[in-house]
Amino acid sequence: MLDLHPAPSRSDDNTEYDVVVVGGGISGLTTAQACLTEHSGDVSRLLLTEARDRVGGNLTSKQDSEYLWEEGPTSFQPNDAMLKAAVDAGLDKDLVMGDPKAPRFVFWNKKLRPTPSGPDLVTFDLLSIWGKLRAGLGAAGFKKAPPGQEETVEQFVTRNLGVEVFQRLIEPFCSGVYAGDPTKLSIQAAFGKVYDLERTGGSIFGGVIKLLQERRKNPPPPRDSRLPPKPKGQTVSSFRKGLQSLPEAMALKMKDNIRTKWELQEIERADTGFRLTYRTPEGIRDIKARCVALTVPAYVAADLLRRDCPDASAGLKSIDYPPVAAVSLAYPMSAILQDRLDQQGNLPGFGQLHPRTQGITTLGTIYSSSLFPNRAPPGWQQLLCYIGGALNRGIVDQGEERIIAQVDKDLRQMLLKPDAPKPKKIGLRIWPKAIPQFNLAHVEVVQGAQEDLDLAGYEGVLLGGNYVSGVALGKCVEYGYEYANKIAKYLQSKVEAATVPSQQEQDEAFFV
Ligand SMILES: Cc1cc2nc3c(=O)[nH]c(=O)nc-3n(C[C@H](O)[C@H](O)[C@H](O)COP(=O)(O)OP(=O)(O)OC[C@H]3O[C@@H](n4cnc5c(N)ncnc54)[C@H](O)[C@@H]3O)c2cc1C
Repeated sequence: MLDLHPAPSRSDDNTEYDVVVVGGGISGLTTAQACLTEHSGDVSRLLLTEARDRVGGNLTSKQDSEYLWEEGPTSFQPNDAMLKAAVDAGLDKDLVMGDPKAPRFVFWNKKLRPTPSGPDLVTFDLLSIWGKLRAGLGAAGFKKAPPGQEETVEQFVTRNLGVEVFQRLIEPFCSGVYAGDPTKLSIQAAFGKVYDLERTGGSIFGGVIKLLQERRKNPPPPRDSRLPPKPKGQTVSSFRKGLQSLPEAMALKMKDNIRTKWELQEIERADTGFRLTYRTPEGIRDIKARCVALTVPAYVAADLLRRDCPDASAGLKSIDYPPVAAVSLAYPMSAILQDRLDQQGNLPGFGQLHPRTQGITTLGTIYSSSLFPNRAPPGWQQLLCYIGGALNRGIVDQGEERIIAQVDKDLRQMLLKPDAPKPKKIGLRIWPKAIPQFNLAHVEVVQGAQEDLDLAGYEGVLLGGNYVSGVALGKCVEYGYEYANKIAKYLQSKVEAATVPSQQEQDEAFFV
């Protein structure tokens, strides 16, 4: 495990930090890295504090002599922000990319069917002809107008693209990303880019055309020349030694600014900023900060703010985090149905998703060892299965054996031969509060909580983390850079306020 900086001596406690970033998950680390590299003028004294004995938050890669597996997220979409974070952390050489042509499957009507990937848009058999027609007409604008109030994902997709697209593509996709309930998820909060297409262009196609026109008018700034070439097609990435390499590499570069095993207990207003009280291995420690950047889960932020900002706290507490279990199993290749294998005897593809209506409890399965190298010994297939979510909260009480038995039973209905041997358990991790749900009113809840903080005189406590940015790793990282800008702006505004004389000071000066 990465040995980070030990707890500071007592004398360090008198430092007033420009910013204390609370939480050493990917959001906190990116924010800290961006502050230090891009805003060093405004943020020279930065501390990042993490309650656990390691950084990374949800990112949890494990390795033994045979397998390399993930117990949290499995991969990320390599957007420029993610690639930049990897380059800044010195990890660009360790990037591994999934095959962009690897098909994704949905289990529908007793069969694994590939999702459309472009050229097969007309021939793919996940949707009926009527379903495709309905989707095409709806996307072109032949659909009901928006109702004038916030819609759920189910309402928006059914209205724009029809029931089939919802049931067979989007509903399982919601399980895959949020482990969520699409009858509660807000389209605006959970899939803002899709929502914006209809809002700006009148229809989904209209929005795409508008977006392309906008891009032609205002081309994006040139790419950072240090970034690896943009991957072609829809692909996902990781690192040679797993996702946790990224937070570890980031932390190594910032090791003098990081304290692990520091759990924030209290935030209080102090004269020029805030006093933060921590439980540390050396006992209770108080430190001072001009600005506090929270990247802890919303329910932790709610507890920290309960006493002095009860309204913000209540809003944050209302964000739901259902449980998810990540179950990594291995089967010999001979256990996999022959028609799923390619000519070399490999299982091609990214993985599969399971609509809730199809009698399968597991939410989805990633073909881990097909996707990235060195994840399983020759002759074995590693599968990472996610189970639980907003519609199956009971997994927290089920125990490992029952969870594995359920996942194995599900796989036998879709991917494995009936006489496949029992799986080898590689790893299993239950996340009791896994992923924040961007349900109806999420945007107002988060904005409202920040406004409540400002009203309570806590405007220097900024809210961040995946419930603010979006849950995908790429979103957390993108927001980390934005968050660093906000922190720098806040600090600048405080300096300006301190240097501009108040009205009373101006009046006094006039009469002297
Ligand atoms: C099972 C699972 C699978 C996922 N799969 C994917 C995927 O494949 N691809 C993808 O893009 N995304 C995936 N996600 C989502 C993604 O992993 C998360 O959204 C992201 O990691 C959140 O990062 P974060 O830094 O915002 O929060 P976290 O990772 O939760 O970090 C918050 C940190 O705050 C610390 N903390 C808490 N309380 C305190 C305190 N009082 N004081 C100090 N520190 C504290 C915590 O210990 C933690 O390290 C998955 C998530 C889960 C749970």
